[in-house]
Amino acid sequence: MSTSPDATSLIAALADEVPPDRFVTDPDIIDRYQHDEAEWAPYAGAVAVLRPRTAREVQALVRHCRRHGIPIVPRGAGTGLSGGANAVAGCVIVSLERMTAVKQIDRLERTAVVEPGVVNDDLRAQCATEGLWYPPDPASSPWSTIGGNVATNAGGICCVKYGVTRDYVLGVEVVTGTGELVRLGRQTAKGVAGYDLAGLMVGSEGTLGIITEITVKLRPLQEPHRTIAGYFDSLVDAGRAIRAVAEVGLTPSALELVDKRCLQAVDEWKHMGISAEANVVLLGRIDTPGTVGDDEADRMLQCFTDGGATWAAASTDQAEADALFAARRLAYPAMERLGPVLTEDVCVPKRHVPEMLSRIESIGQRHDVMIANLAHAGDGNLHPLLIAPADDDAARIRAQAAFDDIITAALELGGTVTGEHGVGLLKMPGLRQELSPAVIDMHRSVKAALDPDGILNPGKVF
Ligand SMILES: Cc1cc2nc3c(=O)[nH]c(=O)nc-3n(C[C@H](O)[C@H](O)[C@H](O)COP(=O)(O)OP(=O)(O)OC[C@H]3O[C@@H](n4cnc5c(N)ncnc54)[C@H](O)[C@@H]3O)c2cc1C
Repeated sequence: MSTSPDATSLIAALADEVPPDRFVTDPDIIDRYQHDEAEWAPYAGAVAVLRPRTAREVQALVRHCRRHGIPIVPRGAGTGLSGGANAVAGCVIVSLERMTAVKQIDRLERTAVVEPGVVNDDLRAQCATEGLWYPPDPASSPWSTIGGNVATNAGGICCVKYGVTRDYVLGVEVVTGTGELVRLGRQTAKGVAGYDLAGLMVGSEGTLGIITEITVKLRPLQEPHRTIAGYFDSLVDAGRAIRAVAEVGLTPSALELVDKRCLQAVDEWKHMGISAEANVVLLGRIDTPGTVGDDEADRMLQCFTDGGATWAAASTDQAEADALFAARRLAYPAMERLGPVLTEDVCVPKRHVPEMLSRIESIGQRHDVMIANLAHAGDGNLHPLLIAPADDDAARIRAQAAFDDIITAALELGGTVTGEHGVGLLKMPGLRQELSPAVIDMHRSVKAALDPDGILNPGKVF
């Protein structure tokens, strides 16, 4: 494959600082890096992909691109669901996939220092060998990177009890849009020296800096959990059970919703023998040890029953319980096999979960759109998955209208357009609905301070 003149001059100009073999210029390979998993989000042609090994290589690229006005799109594993890592015309994609060192796991401080390309599950596995646990567990944990998780402030399954990525980031090393290589945040348990600029990087979606190292907090290994499953005839019944769990003051270590469409899609794909007898399944977990945990599990079971479960039970079979959660994790890729999925990520106050689920159903019917439902239900973080055949323009228009209506409904109920996936491209109109013009202007001011020439992930977020 020939290399474009732009890529040739870029590689030559940086040859003293960045070994040429760090660059990918084959258009067929570049194409694989140009988009994330948000199948509806547009992307354009990149000039090259840089796969750096060091922060200094990233810095050299940013300085060059700043001088020449070349846009840069940072990328982790490309599992994002909002188009945040999608290429923009003429950009260089910086894929952090080769910066995979776990530099330190400190048992005394309960911290880890990692490069951004470390895959979430790999970090969790390494921590486990030290008796430690990195809690944030997006369902993409077998593939997504800690850098991508930090840049999107990823949530996950156990976040209902243990918090999201933001709650675990102590410090970051970043290359800002000015080409500065800086350390932000701290390594200590406490610290208030200056503004929380490390926090600013969490969820910044590659628009303020390229993260080249992260220091995270760890916890002792999680206690074993009990799993409680409930079957429901309707989304709204399941929603009532979810609200009841919050009302009685329980803090489950997971509370996930998965509907029949998703379970069937997983089973058709993986043949896991998961029965989809119910329209909606709730999967709860309690990891409080001892008799207190037993009592909490009983109370969760009662909440499911009170919410209208047609069947509910605590699982006595760990393998069966694990299979249900594995199916939950596979639900999104299973649905992708049925057609391009437009993924919502709204989050509403827990009291409004039944109402929001009811509105999602009505919106699907009104626009004649197939909607499957997945949710980190205990957080009120709902993922209606809108599916329209790729070659059916009318269905796509209806799905987009339903997507917009779901966002409006979530905002009416005091929610947000994105609980964990980030704004990227798909939620930009929603962000403008959610934030006032004055707050959008504050975003612009922050961006101008750290990336004055607007070269980092331009055209994303706001
Ligand atoms: C099957 C499946 C399940 C999922 N489940 C969840 C879930 O439970 N919870 C959840 O929160 N998300 C989930 N996601 C979405 C996605 O996995 C997360 O957003 C994840 O954090 C993205 O990580 P990544 O490494 O793939 O980043 P990418 O998709 O490559 O990038 C995401 C964003 O971060 C930026 N970025 C990446 N690396 C860096 C860096 N080093 N410096 C600066 N910016 C950077 C990119 O520019 C982009 O804006 C799921 C996705 C899939 C496909």
